Formats: sequence, C-alpha cells, structure tokens
Amino acid sequence: MTTLKTKRPRLLDRLRFHRDEANRLLRAQGNALDELYRRANAVRRQFMGDEVFIRGIVEFSNVCARNCYYCGIRAGNKHVKRYTMSADEILEVVRRFPANGQGTVVLQSGEASASFDDEALGKLIRRIKRETPVAVTVCVGNRPGEIYRYWRDCGMDRYLIRFETSDPGLYARLHPDSSLAERLDCLKTLRDLGVQTGSGFMIGVPGETVEILTNNILLCRKLDLDMIGIGPFIPHPDTPLGNTPNAYAADPDMFFKALAVLRLFNPDAHIPATTAYDAMFSGTGRDLALQRGANVFMPNATPSQYRKDYLLYPGKPCVDESAAQCGACVIHRIQALGRTLGQGPGHSKKRTAGIIT
Ligand code: SAH
Repeated sequence: MTTLKTKRPRLLDRLRFHRDEANRLLRAQGNALDELYRRANAVRRQFMGDEVFIRGIVEFSNVCARNCYYCGIRAGNKHVKRYTMSADEILEVVRRFPANGQGTVVLQSGEASASFDDEALGKLIRRIKRETPVAVTVCVGNRPGEIYRYWRDCGMDRYLIRFETSDPGLYARLHPDSSLAERLDCLKTLRDLGVQTGSGFMIGVPGETVEILTNNILLCRKLDLDMIGIGPFIPHPDTPLGNTPNAYAADPDMFFKALAVLRLFNPDAHIPATTAYDAMFSGTGRDLALQRGANVFMPNATPSQYRKDYLLYPGKPCVDESAAQCGACVIHRIQALGRTLGQGPGHSKKRTAGIIT
C-alpha cells in the first residue's frame, strides 16, 4: 500500500523535476531554442490540431474602479475618456460574428459593476445565447461567487481571469486593491460552478525573475486550465510603471520561450496568440506565437470609435481598423500560415462543458 509518507517525496521529486526542466528550457539558446519552438509546435499540432479558433473580443467598457499599477485604464488615469457600450450596440457586433467564422465572443471590461451592472450583463449573456449561436466568455475581474453563478445560469460558457503573477509578494506590489489569494479563489469558484476557466499572466512585469516565470507556467499546469492567455508586459506612460522597462527588454526571445514552454507543460489547453505579442513585435508577433504553441486568435471586435480609449498599453495594433477589417485580416493570417479555421465554438478539449472530472 502506498502511504502518504512514500507518496509525498515522489510528488516533491516530480515537482522539482518539472521546475528544473522548465527553468532549463527558458534559458535555451541557438539550436536548443529552435528545437524548443519545433517541439512546442509539434505538441500543439498533436493535441489541438491545425485548427485556429477565432474569438472576437468586445471591450465593452473602460470604466474601472481598480488601480493596478501597470494598466492604462486604471481608475487613477485621468487622461482616459471613459465609455460604456449599450447592450444593443454589443449585440449588433456579436450578430456579425458567425459570418466571420467567430464562434465565441469575449466580453471584456475594466472592473466596475457600476458602469454596466451585473444584472445587465446577465441579461446580455441571455440575449446573446438566445439570439445567436455564439459562445460567451466573460472577462471582467473579481466578483462574488453568487454573481458568477448567476451569469453561468444565464448561459455564460467561460470566464477569463489572469492571475498575472504567481508570486504573492509581487502581486501585492502590482495591485493595491486585491490579493493573489482573492484571484485564485475566484478561479476556484468558477471551476466549481462548471464554467470553463481561463487564466494566465504577464511576462516580464518589473520584479519578475526567471524563477517566478517558471512558477507562473507551473501554476497554470497545476490549475489545469481550459485556456491560458499570456503576453509581454508593456509599460504605459500614464501609469506608475510607465518608466520601468520589461524585465526581459534585453532578451525578447523570452516572450516566445515562455509561450513554447507553456505549451509543453499544458498540451491540451487552448492558448491564444494575444494582442500584446503584436504590440511588442510590430504586427507579426501573433503569427510567430501561432507557430510556437498558440492555437487561438482573438481579433479586436470593438467598434472603431471606442478602440483608442481601451489602451491597456501603448502600441496596441488595429486601433484604427473596423471589426470587419480585423475579421477579414485574421482569416487571411491564419490561412497564410497553412492553418485552418476552427469550426464551432471551440470549447475546452479537457472535459465536456460543465462537467468537472
Ligand atoms: N478587468 C479585467 C480585464 C483586465 S484587462 C480583469 O481584471 O480581468 C486584461 C489583461 O490585460 C489583464 O489581465 C493584464 O494581464 C493585461 N494588461 C493590462 N495592462 C497591461 C500592460 N501594461 N501590458 C501588458 N498587458 C497588460
């Protein structure tokens, strides 16, 4: 019989092995780096296939009550012109999704239930689910469990909430209004409710070390996430971290190494090529990300008149384009890489929706 005594050291050994392995891969250079990218791409193909799922993101409000030190739409940034879209405006955008091969809408905003209240969001989720075939992902930050339950009952399929960094001390230094424990609690509540959960982190926030980055990747694995979104930290001039460079500013390969190692450690998770890669690598970052582990693309579907006011960081691509232009461009980008368009909503591969095993 295996006792706790014999099991424990084995678990610790495995964890140490994983940590050493991830750490080693994150330091790869030259041929070893090419090999890392090749492996990540092969694992993506083996577990997720060649389909790229398109999930249009609607940044429906930039009103925020929080003051995260890195974020351009933080409450304290008085230069931001605040807006909140109406439910009808949002629905009008989502109705056009199926024609552009977009099976999911990601509803994202700052964190403030005052602008678009929680009940109004529930009603909007119901309408989207009733009136369109589109799956709904919500990304609006920390809320009490009963609100998540209410949204799930309205038909919410998935929820995205990044833990940002796995280091509790660093988290506290970046977020004056919340703790890492609270964020992880939100994730647990969502999972227990049977909602497909997505999380992730920024790469290279000031104070991050390669050890913390390794732990970020291992935490994603431990949380057994359905979706994992990561992207480089980009300093925004109107924030307290505006003059602090990314921790890997001198080693930009690190952004793709992190993605490739993430794929190796989370073979069957949906991993998007996030917008911040394009901002960092002048419009080609997302294509590279798709070739180094990612299998999801999230084009901006926010109406043009609002885009320039949802600047989490500078250099965000496509702020002058329309949703239709972005829809057409993304299909072209995917096909140019020899990949196919994902069909249907692209639910989690990990379990039947709503059933936790
Ligand atoms: N209010 C929601 C949505 C936050 S914005 C929430 O709390 O979940 C979505 C993501 O953008 C954040 O989770 C963060 O990881 C990223 N982000 C914000 N500011 C950034 C910056 N300066 N550089 C890179 N990514 C940033």
